[in-house]
Amino acid sequence: MALLKKDKREPVRIQLKKNDQVKVIAGRDKGKTGRVLDVDSSTGKILVEHVNMIKRHTRKNPAKQIAGGIAEKEAPVAVSNVMILCGKCGAVRIKHHVVQVAGGKSRRTRVCHKCGQVLDKK
Ligand SMILES: [Zn+2]
Repeated sequence: MALLKKDKREPVRIQLKKNDQVKVIAGRDKGKTGRVLDVDSSTGKILVEHVNMIKRHTRKNPAKQIAGGIAEKEAPVAVSNVMILCGKCGAVRIKHHVVQVAGGKSRRTRVCHKCGQVLDKK
């Protein structure tokens, strides 16, 4: 039942991408910054490096080369609890700019809401 509900839910539009530098603005790790490791639009959550760390007690499994013991790993955080970092302004909202590319095509780039600096690497 719970699974069915999750599947029916509409995907969340996430403006963040892997390798973005983000700042946590709410929750246990408020104020921390880190790199986005993974984005999941079906749950609206992302993984941020060294943010929301949890301990997993794992049993060792020599066949799969798992050492066992207590492993620390990142747990997903809601996208609404993080903001992207602009090099100049810090945590900012994202604005989209449409850029004309050669051949009459256009492409959307993400820019800083405050200073207009392009946030996409390419
Ligand atoms: Zn900026």
